[in-house]
Amino acid sequence: MKADSKNTQIKQRRPEEVGVKEASSKLLVVDDLTKVYTKGQGLAKSKIAAVNKVTFSLERDKPEIFTLAGESGSGKSTVAKLILGFEVPTSGSIRYKGKEIAKLNGEKEFMKEVQPVFQNPFETFNPLKKIHTYLYETEKNLAEADQGQLVEESLALVGLSLAEIKDKYPSEMSGGQLQRTSIARALITNPSLLITDEPVSMIDASLRMSIINLFKRLKEEQRVSIIYITHDLATAYYVSDRIAIMLRGEVVEMGSVEEVLDNPLHPYTQLLKASIPVPNPADKWESEIALSDLETKEYLRIGCKFSGRCPRVKAICRECEPENYQVEERYVRCHLYR
Ligand code: ADP
Ligand code: MG
Repeated sequence: MKADSKNTQIKQRRPEEVGVKEASSKLLVVDDLTKVYTKGQGLAKSKIAAVNKVTFSLERDKPEIFTLAGESGSGKSTVAKLILGFEVPTSGSIRYKGKEIAKLNGEKEFMKEVQPVFQNPFETFNPLKKIHTYLYETEKNLAEADQGQLVEESLALVGLSLAEIKDKYPSEMSGGQLQRTSIARALITNPSLLITDEPVSMIDASLRMSIINLFKRLKEEQRVSIIYITHDLATAYYVSDRIAIMLRGEVVEMGSVEEVLDNPLHPYTQLLKASIPVPNPADKWESEIALSDLETKEYLRIGCKFSGRCPRVKAICRECEPENYQVEERYVRCHLYR
């Protein structure tokens, strides 16, 4: 709990002084995290591990942008929901500043320190409610609210002013402005960690980079760590420090973004990098069906989830699930690196 929030300049915030006090040097530890869902009905019912043995951690003293990247249906949002406490893990653990999230969930400090930013800002806000009221309500919920000062400061951090948004309804703002406002709202509580799930995919291409650059600035100037979830490798490459590539619930490769994307080791990362998907509106319907078939099939695969598509597949890949192998600073879940 920060004692002097009234006098604390947001600009000088130091995460180690804020919130849940713990000796751990880690901000977040995700350890062997697994979430099993039941999909389908009747005979088609099957259990899939939407998140399967996912492990990574973020340092407390070294804010970073950690990206979870992968195709749709790879388990990215499920990881976000588990960290935010919206879903309960089937097994494994998530610790925030040394404490199990299940025990922190609902605790006020945790809710302040770990803030979500969602994909569609038009769904984040009620269309009938003036946008600035959200900011004031968030401020009011803080124990020691200082009438509007935090609102102004947070808006300034995202490059907006109260004058620009006051009395406006969501429909009167652009997607970019609205997403900035939702980030400003998240910043009011002085968070240490933002979980941003596809935060720019609904935003005009021309405005995307301004949001991405904002994340960079928040990390550098406000020491906020960010988990950036995306299917877009270009923005991931630009903004991330580290990246984890997900495939059917598993992290198949993880390391510094330069290493992983300049020189991918996992055949799946190599494929992702090489293939920029070109949508074909004519057969959208068929390709969606094909994709969801493939999705369940791959989730249910016994060995490596990628073995059905991998150009370098070996017999062992169809029989045994690969472990996480360390190659220098990087982790790769692939039998080629045994
Ligand atoms: P991504 O965010 O990468 O697109 P998700 O985490 O949303 O992936 O989903 C991963 C897999 O888990 C998908 O196959 C999805 O259908 C399944 N899934 C997600 N949520 C549920 C749920 N509540 N019940 C059953 N299956 C789910
Ligand atoms: Mg998702």
